[in-house]
Amino acid sequence: MTTRSTELLRVAHARPGVTRAEAARLLGVGTGAATEIVARLVQASLLAEAPAAPSGSRGRPTMQLVPHPSGPLVLAAAITHEAWRIDVVELGGNTLTSVGGLHDGGGWDAVAAAVTAAVGELLTAYGDRLRAMGVSVPGTVSPELRLDASTSGWHDADLTALWAGPVFVAGNDATLAAAAETARGAALGATVALHLRIEGGLGGAVVDHGKVLVGARGAGGEFGHMPFGDPSIDCPCGARGCWGTAVDGTALARLLGRPAPPDPVTYARRVIAADSPAERAAVRQVAAALGRGIAGLVNGLDADLVTLGGIGVDLLAAAPAELDAAYRAGLMSVHRASPPPVRPAALGDDGPIAGAGEEAWSRLLPGLA
Ligand SMILES: [Zn+2]
Repeated sequence: MTTRSTELLRVAHARPGVTRAEAARLLGVGTGAATEIVARLVQASLLAEAPAAPSGSRGRPTMQLVPHPSGPLVLAAAITHEAWRIDVVELGGNTLTSVGGLHDGGGWDAVAAAVTAAVGELLTAYGDRLRAMGVSVPGTVSPELRLDASTSGWHDADLTALWAGPVFVAGNDATLAAAAETARGAALGATVALHLRIEGGLGGAVVDHGKVLVGARGAGGEFGHMPFGDPSIDCPCGARGCWGTAVDGTALARLLGRPAPPDPVTYARRVIAADSPAERAAVRQVAAALGRGIAGLVNGLDADLVTLGGIGVDLLAAAPAELDAAYRAGLMSVHRASPPPVRPAALGDDGPIAGAGEEAWSRLLPGLA
């Protein structure tokens, strides 16, 4: 089909429930041409039309563009240090089914086996409607789609083994969350948005005028490995004094004199929710370490908005004064008059999986129509 068909599908995806008339206006085509394109897409089982809710005005009911009941679907997957999840996502971003499970933080092979088994079951259920897969992972992804996640001990893992179909994309969790946050979340409209995500360690991404900076090798945004932390602490990445070791669950455990937890996210949330003086002091200290580092990045990048994901949201809620004081103290005076806001990510923990789904859809769409 034509580029206009692809553009119309893109509009239907980006604006779920858009009417045919609105889509025509957004594409800059006449209503006759739009009707023709929609008819072709309906014929190809890519799109369907449904009457919109009555607006109260007279005349023919407006038709909304909706996913075709037997149309294409993508798998959006998120693998974290503790768990995995796969969503079946239709055009427009709606999730039809979600499956997932915990893993013991052990070898990559066991995690990959659990994910491929689940993909196999979803293929049985949805058949060839499943056309693409996007995967979010907690580490860096090379152009050859190999994963390196030092905090989990996963090295050179072949992500392409997770999906046998033609359209497969994989990316770093913080990068995908940043993209989703810019497309549908709290960073919509920001000029330079900085997204930071604390899970096991800290990852991030910079979105410059809507474009995510991924780096030459796909390893951009590893802000957790900037030396903003304690220089006496070894990081699993091989460096010392990494910021990530000062702001995650392992940092809280160290401050409390406990061993590094195998489940740093669950552990951090437990400590943040606890109310003993020692735990509260540790949370305040970690929140200040987060605020100080954010200031360094805002100074370096001139970001106009900072969004936080993962444990960053919990730290911001638990110790906002300590985080803010450290942030402001670290800002250059040029930024201090009106500090760029630091906000929780609107998509919350769903940011990475939402980003994986968006990425899969954006790769799939041009090949469909
Ligand atoms: Zn490091």
